[in-house]
Amino acid sequence: MIATNKKLNDGNTIPTLGLGTWKAKPNEVGQAVITKAGYKHIDCASIYGNQEEIGTSFEESFKSVKRDGVFITSKLWNTDHRPEDVEKAVKKTLSDLRLDYLDLYLMHWGIALKPGGDLEPVDENGQAITEKVSISDTWKAMEDLVKKGLVKSIGVANFTTMMIVDLLASSSIAPAMNQIELHPYNTQEELVKFCLSKGIAVTAYSPLGRHGVAKDNGSGPNLFDEPILKELSDKHKKSIAQILLNWAISRGTIAIPKSVTPERISENINIFDFELSQDEQEEISSLNKNYRFIEPQGWWGMPYFK
Ligand code: NDP
Repeated sequence: MIATNKKLNDGNTIPTLGLGTWKAKPNEVGQAVITKAGYKHIDCASIYGNQEEIGTSFEESFKSVKRDGVFITSKLWNTDHRPEDVEKAVKKTLSDLRLDYLDLYLMHWGIALKPGGDLEPVDENGQAITEKVSISDTWKAMEDLVKKGLVKSIGVANFTTMMIVDLLASSSIAPAMNQIELHPYNTQEELVKFCLSKGIAVTAYSPLGRHGVAKDNGSGPNLFDEPILKELSDKHKKSIAQILLNWAISRGTIAIPKSVTPERISENINIFDFELSQDEQEEISSLNKNYRFIEPQGWWGMPYFK
C-alpha cells in the first residue's frame, strides 16, 4: 500500500497527503481546515492572504486535537528575503496562524523582490523589480529560525536542479523539501529523481491540475477529461482525483490537493486503500507534456523556469 507518512532528511515526519489552501477564500478556508475528514497536514503561505482565518480555525481545532499531531507548512514571500526580514516574516505568520512553531517553512520562490510596497512589484515594462539578496543569504536566516525553535524543518519551493546544487554547496542545513508543480501533464521526472537522490523530499503542488480553475482563457488541458484516467477510475472504483493523488504518492512524492468542498475534501484523503500497478502508473506518467499551470512569466515578466 502507498505510504501515509514520509521521513524527512532532518528526522521529522510528514504525512504524504495534505490540504492546500491557495485561493481558498478567507470566508471558506476556516471551515475547510477544521473539517472532520482527518487531515494531518495543511499547506499555507502568507501570500495566500487567508492565514488569519486559518489561524482562528487552528485555535479552535487545537482545543481537541494535539498540535504535534498536525504538520503545518507556511512559506516566506519574495519581498521578505532580506535576512533581517526573515524572522519578522515568520513571526507574523505564526501570529496569524496562532501557532508557536511551524513544522516546515519554505522559501516560496528563489527570487528576492523589492520589499516595502507591492507584494509583486513590477517596473514600467512589466518586469519584476528584484532585490540584491542571494538565495544563500536568505537561507542562512532561515537556518537561524530552526536554531531558535520557530520552525522545525526548512525547505524550498519552485527550485530547479541548479538552484538546489548551489544551495547545497552553501548551506549548513540541507533543504528538507522542494515543493514543485507535479501532475501527469508535468511529471518533471528528472528533477524529482535528483531531489530524492539528494535526500530532499518532494511535494506535488497542483496535483489535480488545478481542476476547474481557468488557465489560458479556459482553453488549457483538463486531466479530468483524459480517457486513461476515466478508465482507471472505473476499474478501481475510485474518482479521477483519487487516482491522481494515489499516483502522486506511488511515485514517492507528497501531495497537497486544495479543496473547500466538504465532499471533495473527504474524497481526496480517502486514497490509501488501493494500489496502481507499475504499468498503470507508467500509463499515467506517459500523459506528460511538460505543461505548467503555474507559469510566473505572466506575473513577473521573466522566464523563471528557463
Ligand atoms: P489543485 O490541483 O489542488 O486543484 C484545486 C482545484 O481542484 C480547486 O478548484 C478544487 O475545487 C478542485 N478540486 C479539489 N478536489 C477535487 C475533486 N476531488 N474533484 C474535482 N475537483 C476537485 O491546485 P492548487 O494549485 O490549489 O494546488 C494545491 C495546493 O498546492 C495549493 O492550494 C497550495 O497550497 C499549493 N501550491 C503551492 C505553490 C507554490 O508555489 N509553492 C503553487 C501552487 C499551489 P474546490 O476547492 O472548489 O473544491
